[in-house]
Amino acid sequence: MLTVEALSSSYGRIMALREVSLEVKAGEIVALVGSNGAGKTTLLRAISGVQPVRGGRILFEGEAIEKMEPHLRVVRGISQSPEGRQVFGPLSIEDNLKLGAYRRQDARRQARLDHVYGLFPVLAERRRTPAMSLSGGQQQMLAIGRALMAGPKLLLLDEPSLGLAPLLVDQILAAVTSLRTEGITTLLVEQNASAALAIADRGYVLETGHITMEGTGAALLDDPKVRAAYLGL
Ligand code: ATP
Repeated sequence: MLTVEALSSSYGRIMALREVSLEVKAGEIVALVGSNGAGKTTLLRAISGVQPVRGGRILFEGEAIEKMEPHLRVVRGISQSPEGRQVFGPLSIEDNLKLGAYRRQDARRQARLDHVYGLFPVLAERRRTPAMSLSGGQQQMLAIGRALMAGPKLLLLDEPSLGLAPLLVDQILAAVTSLRTEGITTLLVEQNASAALAIADRGYVLETGHITMEGTGAALLDDPKVRAAYLGL
């Protein structure tokens, strides 16, 4: 579904991505793990089109998209839930969700709202409340829900577990797993490597802008280098 080939990106002289290549197949959850500053966010932003690239290619369903406007990538089926959630605090939960539907008149909007409310019932219960009154975990659910409102084929999730208590991390990742059964493909960026690799079909390790390892989620979880560097074992 998604093929990234030798992708490079920089901030001025800082090379954030150096010839990164990876693949996400339809129906997979792929985890991208790595420490602070490794380039994970930059890679997601390059795929969604808000970060310029210097070289390399991004193919989505066989089409080169690395020069395509971000909104057209959403239309193609790529939707990102950004790091730090970035929900609109004064707006209600429902209005935040509606902002994620890229066409206001889209007949599927109500069905998508219902889908998000089914996935995260707490959002349905509180649909009229301002987003700023939600807990961190609920705001994360809202950010994922908003990304789902565009009806993506590929969901890009940036650190959905950041700052959340373990129980909420489990809830969010269980939701990602249930999206897989509905056919939604996910590229999941996480510093919480153990939680991400545990639900991932495959994973990649990114270190200072390079992919250094790849394998199944289970193989990476078992790998001594991954265990020492990212799992604190
Ligand atoms: P984190 O988990 O902290 O978000 P990350 O793996 O997502 O880390 P990036 O945020 O992609 O890493 O950053 C990759 C590199 O690019 C880092 O060296 C970072 O300092 C640098 N960088 C990121 N954003 C900018 C920016 N706006 N201007 C300059 N340098 C940046």
